[in-house]
Amino acid sequence: MVEVKRKMDVEAYDAVILGQGAAAYAAALYSGRYRLETLMIGPTFGGETATASILANYPGYVEVDGFELMSRMKEQVDRLGVKTVQAQASAIAKVEHGFDITYEGGQVHGETLIYAVGRERRKLGLPGEESLWGVSYCATCDAPLYAGKTVAVIGGGDSAVKAALLLSRACPRVYVVYRGQAFARPEAVSLRLISERENIVPVLGTRVTRLLSREDALAGLELSQPFGGSRELAVEGVFVEIGAEPRSEMARALGVALNEKGEVMVGKLMETNVPRFFAAGDVCDGAGDLKQTITAAAQGALAATSAYKVISVHGNACEHHCVPFEVD
Ligand SMILES: Cc1cc2nc3c(=O)[nH]c(=O)nc-3n(C[C@H](O)[C@H](O)[C@H](O)COP(=O)(O)OP(=O)(O)OC[C@H]3O[C@@H](n4cnc5c(N)ncnc54)[C@H](O)[C@@H]3O)c2cc1C
Repeated sequence: MVEVKRKMDVEAYDAVILGQGAAAYAAALYSGRYRLETLMIGPTFGGETATASILANYPGYVEVDGFELMSRMKEQVDRLGVKTVQAQASAIAKVEHGFDITYEGGQVHGETLIYAVGRERRKLGLPGEESLWGVSYCATCDAPLYAGKTVAVIGGGDSAVKAALLLSRACPRVYVVYRGQAFARPEAVSLRLISERENIVPVLGTRVTRLLSREDALAGLELSQPFGGSRELAVEGVFVEIGAEPRSEMARALGVALNEKGEVMVGKLMETNVPRFFAAGDVCDGAGDLKQTITAAAQGALAATSAYKVISVHGNACEHHCVPFEVD
C-alpha cells in the first residue's frame, strides 16, 4: 500500500462516510452523536431503500415507503450537523492519519473512512424493466406483495434458487427461467429442496426476450423458445436474480481485502484489513446473503462506533499507535 504525505490545505474530518444509503445514514447518525466531525459523500440520496415502494420488514413500521424512511433518517442526521456533499467519490489515497478522498469537485481528508457504497444490480436490459409494476430485484423484500400470484425468477445461481424457494411458500407457481442447461452451483440443500417443491417449475436453456405488459403492469414473459407449447409465459411478477456487483473497486485499489464475490471483508466491528477503513452495508460481507435495510443500518452503527474508538483513543496519533483490528 503506497502511503503519501497529505497536503495541508485539504479540509479534514474525523469521519468521512461514502454513500447516502441506509448504511451511510446510520453511520452518520452514530458518528454525529459521538460528536465526530463528519462528512457524507454520495451521488444519490437514499440508496436502494429509497427506491423500495413498501418496506414491511423494518422494525417499528408495519409498512413504510422506502423514500419516507430514508427522509426520516436524513432529518435525524441533519439535526446533528453532519455535512453532506452530493457527489460521487472517485479515488481514495492512504495518507498520514487516514485517507484523502477525491470526489467530483473536490478533495477532503478523513481520519477514518466508512465505506458504504452498496452494490450495482445487474439488469436484464429489456424495455419496461424500469417502469412496469411487477419487476423486482429482491425476493426477501417483495415476496409478500406477490402472495397468490404466478411469478417467475430469472437466473440460475444460488440467489435465484433461494428466491424461488422463498416465493414458493406464497405463490401457487414459480417458474425459474435460466439460460443454462442446469442451475449454476447452488448449495446442495437448495437444489434438493427445489426438486421437492412441486410448484417450482424450472425452464432451462431459455432466455427472456421481452417483458409483456397490460397497462402499467407486467403480464408475462416472451421466451427465446417455446415452453409448454408457447413462447409466452403468463406471470404477474418477475424477480431478476442475475447477480449484483459490489462497488468495491476503490477499496480494492487501496489494498482492502475482498472475498470471492468482490465484497469487502469485514470483522465483527466492520473493520477491514486496512486500519481506519471500515465498511458497512451491501458492499461488504458482514450480513452474508441477508442484504437488507436493517442489516445495512446495523452495520453502519457499528462502523461509526469503531471509527469513534479510533478517534477517541488515538486521535491524530501516527499509524504505529493505531492498533489495527484483526479480520476474522
Ligand atoms: C427495489 C428494492 C426493494 C427493496 N426492498 C427492501 C425491503 O423491503 N426491505 C429491506 O430490508 N431491504 C430492501 N431492499 C434492500 C435494501 O434496499 C438494501 O439492502 C439497502 O439499501 C443497502 O443499503 P446500503 O446503504 O448498503 O446500500 P445502498 O442503499 O445501495 O446505498 C449505496 C449508496 O452509495 C452511493 N454511492 C455509490 N457509488 C458511490 C461513490 N463512488 N461514492 C459515494 N457514494 C456512492 C449510492 O448513491 C447510494 O447512496 C430493496 C432493494 C431494492 C433494490
